[in-house]
Amino acid sequence: MTRLRVTILGSTGSIGRQALDVASRHADKVQIVALSAHASATALLEQAERFGVRRLALADAAVAEEAARRARRPIGGGASAVEELAGDGSADLVLNALVGASGLRASVAALRSGVRLALANKESLVVGGELVTSLGLERILPVDSEHSAIFQCLLGERGTEVKRLWLTASGGPFRGRPASELSDVTVEEALAHPRWTMGPKITIDSATLMNKGLEAIEAHHLFGLSYEQIRVVIHPQSCVHSMVEFADGSVKAHLGATDMRVPIQYAFSYPERWESTVEPVDFVSLGRLDFEEPDLAAFPCLGLGLEAGRVGGTMPAVLNAANEVAVAAFLAGAVPFGAIPRTVEQVMAAHTLQPLDSLERVEAVDAWARESAQQLLR
Ligand code: MG
Repeated sequence: MTRLRVTILGSTGSIGRQALDVASRHADKVQIVALSAHASATALLEQAERFGVRRLALADAAVAEEAARRARRPIGGGASAVEELAGDGSADLVLNALVGASGLRASVAALRSGVRLALANKESLVVGGELVTSLGLERILPVDSEHSAIFQCLLGERGTEVKRLWLTASGGPFRGRPASELSDVTVEEALAHPRWTMGPKITIDSATLMNKGLEAIEAHHLFGLSYEQIRVVIHPQSCVHSMVEFADGSVKAHLGATDMRVPIQYAFSYPERWESTVEPVDFVSLGRLDFEEPDLAAFPCLGLGLEAGRVGGTMPAVLNAANEVAVAAFLAGAVPFGAIPRTVEQVMAAHTLQPLDSLERVEAVDAWARESAQQLLR
């Protein structure tokens, strides 16, 4: 059997490392052909050694140059080198696990080259929208757990008979807390996610519920549904990964362990399913499944995300860029938690909406929103 050739972009991050864990458990089925990281040269070289990977890139060009000299091997440097790995067509599947809007060009390069794209970088769809989906929606395999769940619920169904998507959210570490208690929570509290193991950026997005706003936009583009057909529901057990409601009133839900290796592996194995060692759900010990309305007053980022999606055009790119800057400032200890929604809201209000008609437009708007957010946070 020929193995699936896989390129992993962002291989030293949380999703990247879990993807390599999946690959090592299925070494008879998966061959890693290229890896990229941002600046973690030592970790990247260790992974290359372990998986016998020759083609490497580091987004930080200076780090790449230094690492190539020390390791005495070629390592591509800079964002263009990462894009080149994504688009050179030597893999069957490219896993984009980059963080933030910087992942957009890599998604575009992968889709243009004709390969399948396992998408963990939701920002590609949030900021790029139809610019990305028009390149080959049928070759995008969602890795985000909610979207993988919806994708699986839709197998064998007709799109025209879908009435609504129920996007589940754990509620994060601050679920149930009122708005008045959230303005000055610490970085440590915000990073303590109750259910999922994820990188720091997405963990903060889960604490503000911005993540669910971004995911609604992602779902809109992946599944072609209006925002009126996408409903967010808080589900603290995170056992139901999302649901699809059909015309006849039937609802299909995808349930499983809260382990990102499951949706990663499914993107690799699709349309097959492979064995997995993740802990199965024990419904008896789980006991119950709860569902609640999200509190938009305490978590304004969710409302901002849905609003940006409904407005469309360049607004989701503005939302995302302002949020990336504000979250980085919060993680650095420079601004309070409450500055995140405030900054995003102000930058969105200052934006003059433009049509989403080119990557250059997206990047110009992204740069404007970052600069605006930085000025507000200073
Ligand atoms: Mg998710």
